[in-house]
Amino acid sequence: MNKSIWQNTKHSISITKKNIDCDVLIIGGGMAGMTTLLKLFDSNKKIVLIDSSIVGNGITGKSTGKISVMQEYNYQKIEGISKDLCFKYLESQLYSVKSLIGMIKKYNIDCDLCKNDSYIFTNSKDNIEKINNEKAILDNVINCSTINKLPNGYPCIYGIKTDFSYVFNPIKYINSVKELCMKKFSIYEYTRAINISRKLDYFLVKTNKNKIKAKQIIICTHYPILVKKLFFPIVTNITKEYLIGSHVLKNIKCNMISNDDSIKSIRYYKDFMIYAGGNDLLGGKLNHKNNLNSVINDFKRHFNYPIEYSWYNYDITSTDYLPIIDEVEKNIFVATAFNKWGFSNGMLAASILADYINGKKNIYANLVSINRKSLINSSCIKNIFDNVVTYFKPKKSNITFEIIDGIKYAIYTDIDGVKHKVVYKCPHLGCNLIFNEIDKTWDCPCHGSRYDIDGNVIQGPSSYSIKKK
Ligand SMILES: Cc1cc2nc3c(=O)[nH]c(=O)nc-3n(C[C@H](O)[C@H](O)[C@H](O)COP(=O)(O)OP(=O)(O)OC[C@H]3O[C@@H](n4cnc5c(N)ncnc54)[C@H](O)[C@@H]3O)c2cc1C
Repeated sequence: MNKSIWQNTKHSISITKKNIDCDVLIIGGGMAGMTTLLKLFDSNKKIVLIDSSIVGNGITGKSTGKISVMQEYNYQKIEGISKDLCFKYLESQLYSVKSLIGMIKKYNIDCDLCKNDSYIFTNSKDNIEKINNEKAILDNVINCSTINKLPNGYPCIYGIKTDFSYVFNPIKYINSVKELCMKKFSIYEYTRAINISRKLDYFLVKTNKNKIKAKQIIICTHYPILVKKLFFPIVTNITKEYLIGSHVLKNIKCNMISNDDSIKSIRYYKDFMIYAGGNDLLGGKLNHKNNLNSVINDFKRHFNYPIEYSWYNYDITSTDYLPIIDEVEKNIFVATAFNKWGFSNGMLAASILADYINGKKNIYANLVSINRKSLINSSCIKNIFDNVVTYFKPKKSNITFEIIDGIKYAIYTDIDGVKHKVVYKCPHLGCNLIFNEIDKTWDCPCHGSRYDIDGNVIQGPSSYSIKKK
């Protein structure tokens, strides 16, 4: 369960227990971290990348793998804040898609890259205006035409189409980048950053395997770890989406997305179709089983193919729909909040971060700065409220509790009657946990950290496992 269609791709793993000394440490080997490493390929600095799992197996390896300037209704949302921001962001996305395609070609990255038609569509008359608004913005940089049906017959009354869009296999991309970058730099997996301490002119990063000395640190862990812990929950929120992979008789060379009542996203890969749906705020109506079933039922209503894979994934959205890519403390850099479009924005992050490391300021640095005014708006108040509600009002789940020495423990009893007891608080910021019955994991409904049945951390932002009794 929760294994995506891409995660069958073979990979080799490198681990070390030796302490390391480097110029730049990149924490996190997903789209953002690995593309930053590739962007720094010509650098003479000693660069090391670590990942708590296997590179590419985070959010990147569970995505749909579209590289696109067409991004659902994102541009008009940003235009609602400022026209200037909207056009600068549009420009940044065009630049990033072109840069990513250019880098893939330049370095011969084997990732099944393929150009294909992309659609934004609706099945509701109420959304036609939104689609036209998005087209009016996109027309400034790419050619879009209008349509009233989709090539795979999926229900649609109106939409737009562009041929400036690409798809790829995200894990194949990461593995090819890894193979190339290992010729110059070191990449260590199963190496989780646990703590960063600032020394006079370097940082000391403690991991579960070793200690790493670095002059500069780049944090590309999807949800940022170990810095500004109270800030990111205010300016971002997390959504959970569900995906299905199924063999189909015909690959229809296109990808499509709609957002009528919830997101529906479809793409084809070889003889597979990937169908993604849902878009549930973490901490909101987080009923994993029901939400997954509703996407499965929706899939079955429209397609008569057996379901071979099903998995879920998390997205981070910022309060102004722009990514956050910046130096957040002296010599510590962060890239996060890609607002569902992590391949163009992962490339944007790589360009901006590589420029910072090379002592330059990128033309898009101000747009995605952590200090921009647009990030602080009324959604921050909602985020604070949602965090507080989720903190104090846990969702019901099939667990019992015990209080020992004033500490509350949650207990899950498995089918063999074995009791799994963990402290009932996420070590990240103390939110109450819920038990995920499908994967048998403890999940944090506030910021997405996940722990195995015995409390060992498997997904951040928490760097720590739950204390056991
Ligand atoms: C359902 C779904 C579909 C999507 N489809 C698309 C799409 O088609 N096109 C698109 O542009 N975007 C898409 N996205 C968004 C995109 O996938 C993400 O924005 C992007 O992959 C995030 O990349 P990342 O490098 O920030 O994070 P990740 O890929 O999660 O990489 C972060 C890495 O950091 C590691 N890590 C975490 N904590 C630590 C630690 N303490 N120490 C060391 N390492 C650590 C993790 O193991 C992980 O490998 C989709 C998202 C979802 C949810």
